[in-house]
Amino acid sequence: MPAQSLDGKGLSERIIADLAVRVSARVTAGMTAPALAVILVGSDPASGIYVRNKRNACLKAGIHSILYDLPVTTTQAEVLALIGELNHNTGVHGILVQMPLPPQIDPTAVIERICPGKDVDGFHPYNIGRLAVRMPTLRSCTPYGVMRLLAMVHDDLKGMSAVVVGSSNHVGRPMGLELLLAGCTVTTCHRFTHNLDAFVAQADIVVVAVGKPELVKGAWIKPGATVVDVGINRMADGSLRGDVEFAAAGERAAWITPVPGGVGPMTVAMLLENTLLAAQLADAAIRVDLDC
Ligand code: NAD
Repeated sequence: MPAQSLDGKGLSERIIADLAVRVSARVTAGMTAPALAVILVGSDPASGIYVRNKRNACLKAGIHSILYDLPVTTTQAEVLALIGELNHNTGVHGILVQMPLPPQIDPTAVIERICPGKDVDGFHPYNIGRLAVRMPTLRSCTPYGVMRLLAMVHDDLKGMSAVVVGSSNHVGRPMGLELLLAGCTVTTCHRFTHNLDAFVAQADIVVVAVGKPELVKGAWIKPGATVVDVGINRMADGSLRGDVEFAAAGERAAWITPVPGGVGPMTVAMLLENTLLAAQLADAAIRVDLDC
């Protein structure tokens, strides 16, 4: 029987509608709406689209978004100085720097400059570390979004065998930590993994975040598995394709995410959830600010 679609678009819309209710209740109670500062450096067209989508989603949820649209020639010192100002601005609850950055700016320095309590992307080593020690606070948006998708179709992930393909700092690694936190037995595969097919074939849950179209073949999927495709690959004809052979995998899996309409919208919804959480942490004077 063909797999059922794990509909990230539908779930993200429900999450954003629920956030709108929570934000409105907050404002009615006399508190400020959560505010997200978005820093965009340069005019990469894909980044421009992502930033626009995030701002539109903020609008729907009642979250205030402030765009800093900086020229491609902006120096690292200028970006770090802006983040420093925003860290100290109590009217700003979340700070997002759209990646990729121009080559003169080191993304690691930028991520580390953001105060962990305002790190709504969940990329700061402090926040990844909290996830590693089972104290998640601001969680990396894409892996957190994947967990919410999985929760839609599995009551309990304990004891399931999960394979994550891809080990980047912002997707693969925190994804493995999320699945571990949920009680899965986790294997992380990456560019040096031998016999990727054998690892995928024994997995109840497969999450793929590589950036290579259809790297994971449908024939590798264990019958009845849940397949989450994080990959977004722009093809020559302009269409989008994931990292999994969608139709063939769908013949074997029980659940599979589409691309587009699977993980992408969930990433945006989790960004907004994190922004509300950051505002709540600030209200409660729970300082997650280390040295910023
Ligand atoms: P990355 O380039 O930072 O990391 C890729 C990972 O894939 C690396 O860990 C590498 O070791 C691994 N890899 C490369 N070749 C491999 C192979 N042959 N077998 C196994 N592993 C291999 O990429 P990323 O930033 O983590 O993004 C991965 C994909 O996810 C991209 O397509 C990106 O556009 C997409 N993405 C989507 C969302 C979303 O919201 N849907 C968010 C972030 C990234």
